[in-house]
Amino acid sequence: MRALVNGAGGFIGGHLVRDLKAKGYWIRGADLVAHEYSPSLADEFLLGDLRDPEFSRQVCEGIDVVYQLAADMGGAGYIFTGDHDAAVMHNSATINLNALEQGRLAGVKRFFYSSSACIYPEYNQLDPDNPKCSEDSAYPAAPDSEYGWEKLFSERLYLAYGRNYGLDVRIARFHNVFGTEGAFSGGKEKAPAAICRKVAEAPDGGEIEIWGDGKQTRSFLYVDECVQGINRLLESDFPGPVNIGSEERVTINQMAEMVIGISGKKLSLRHIPGPLGVRGRNSDNRLIREKLEWAPSRPLVEGLEKTYRWIAAETS
Ligand code: NAD
Repeated sequence: MRALVNGAGGFIGGHLVRDLKAKGYWIRGADLVAHEYSPSLADEFLLGDLRDPEFSRQVCEGIDVVYQLAADMGGAGYIFTGDHDAAVMHNSATINLNALEQGRLAGVKRFFYSSSACIYPEYNQLDPDNPKCSEDSAYPAAPDSEYGWEKLFSERLYLAYGRNYGLDVRIARFHNVFGTEGAFSGGKEKAPAAICRKVAEAPDGGEIEIWGDGKQTRSFLYVDECVQGINRLLESDFPGPVNIGSEERVTINQMAEMVIGISGKKLSLRHIPGPLGVRGRNSDNRLIREKLEWAPSRPLVEGLEKTYRWIAAETS
């Protein structure tokens, strides 16, 4: 099996390459950048811009399955300020248009697309204790970010290519994936990595800053289970879209306290204004359980422990 991983230089792409390699795949990785934290295990790694149709065509040659994870993305500090909206929409939509069109012309028959929980309507995520994120609640659409709108457009694009060109398309909606070897500084980091970094850098007895009141809820999925979910979706005959996320809903304050507990330090939380996103979100795993007979189940604290140890070592 010859697989192309677009976004192989990124966080989830890097973990996916390692896993597929262990399963015996031949892998071509493609990305704008090499992986920042570990050498890629891909058999071939092509550096280039997937917004360029010619590069997109080149990377698809001789490929059986495309895993499309490349996107212009980041955490709340990148997605919710509004400053990157045009780039996020233009860059990610262009990557997806190219991946499908160039892939199909090159004879690729199977595509995995990484969508996001950010496609879910804001009006269903106003109550932190009772968010609704079942797959069938995506419409009437009202994502709270342009990032979410692009993902929704691209989901439809993959489904349309599937219908009109007979392609085998699989779509997952990831919910807040975190883990080792992902961004933890620089502006694109997401909440778990940012909090781990702040805790690792804080002196014992000090404080860490939390955006907002910290009472907004989320669930966080450790990257190993995300990769497992991708594999199970590809092994099934279910196209999706399907949530791949944890159902362990916590407030940001609770997650910060978990990380502080792991660190063994005594730290207090200081709440400051910042970009936030929806008030509450949690994965709804009824469909994945039904279709794949599996759902993520590992406790959040276990993944936080591994992530904290890695970030603490990287920042020391
Ligand atoms: P990431 O930013 O670490 O990886 C994305 C990679 O895409 C980066 O290495 C980047 O260099 C590459 N890329 C961006 N533009 C490119 C271009 N023009 N040409 C070539 N490469 C380009 O992000 P990630 O967390 O690994 O996310 C992977 C996918 O999963 C993305 O599509 C993301 O939207 C989706 N997703 C992630 C999460 C999460 O919590 N991490 C949640 C929902 C969805």
